[in-house]
Amino acid sequence: MNLVGIELGGTKCICTLGTQSGEILASVSLPTGSNADHTLNEIKASVRALIAKQAQSSAGFQPAALGIASFGPLDLNPASPNYGSITATPKPGWSQTPILRPLGAELNVPTLITTDVNGAALAEGQWGAAQGLSNFIYVTIGTGIGAGIVSNGHLLQGLTHPEIGHMRIPAARTADEQASVWAGSCSFHGDCLEGVASGTAIEARTGQSARTLPQDHPIWDVVAKALAHMCHNLTLTLAPQRILLGGGIMMGHAHVVERIRREFLLSLNDYTNLTQLIGDEAQFIQLAGLGDRAGPLGSLALAKAALQGSNPAS
Ligand code: ZN
Repeated sequence: MNLVGIELGGTKCICTLGTQSGEILASVSLPTGSNADHTLNEIKASVRALIAKQAQSSAGFQPAALGIASFGPLDLNPASPNYGSITATPKPGWSQTPILRPLGAELNVPTLITTDVNGAALAEGQWGAAQGLSNFIYVTIGTGIGAGIVSNGHLLQGLTHPEIGHMRIPAARTADEQASVWAGSCSFHGDCLEGVASGTAIEARTGQSARTLPQDHPIWDVVAKALAHMCHNLTLTLAPQRILLGGGIMMGHAHVVERIRREFLLSLNDYTNLTQLIGDEAQFIQLAGLGDRAGPLGSLALAKAALQGSNPAS
């Protein structure tokens, strides 16, 4: 009984074959083009080819469930006629695109869909840095900022999936900007969290790629404070047992995590007994455990849930 996963990202898709213990048997990556139908057909062809090749080399290979972890926003209301579709996305060519229906029809197996960050959160719970926890948050800080929130073992889902990247935070100034505040890069909210701490914001503010910025660049103080405020808000709102920080910016700049912890504790200011409950802040706020495998493993974690007949998103 094997698993098939599709991670549909904003720039690339990864089709993965794996096992229920999180072993990746084979995978293939292809670009997410601006023609949704064409990309979805390419994904279907890639999955077919991967399965055929795997079945040749491993006689016992049996695709038994499919997990789809997609960029959003997604309609995840099972009662909606558009369930499993991308809704209004700024990505050209993808608004109002059904994802679950065309990809799910490819394999006649139990199938689940959720967002890519929700998938990554599930994978961290199954095989990564949140194993054994039923309340935790996985935050990805990359081009944008998003999170999968696991609450009592289920992904938090209400009106829609949470969009914590756009929470309001106190204005973040660099040390030499006391008199003025940067307007932020979010086209909807200006200096929301994503507008000051995402890779897009860092690049817009410094004129450099976040990848090449040195550790002592003043922007990291801004990013650390913004993400510490996020951790403050998430901790006081959702009372998680752990917050995991992943995504390209964090994985490439792990030095920021210690600064986030420091600013987080300063921000909490020893409120009630939270510091005691949190205990070791290095355990409470830590780097995600699966690195760049979080996405593909997220789709497999979802396939595993489909196989077990459970839907962590409901
Ligand atoms: Zn925003």
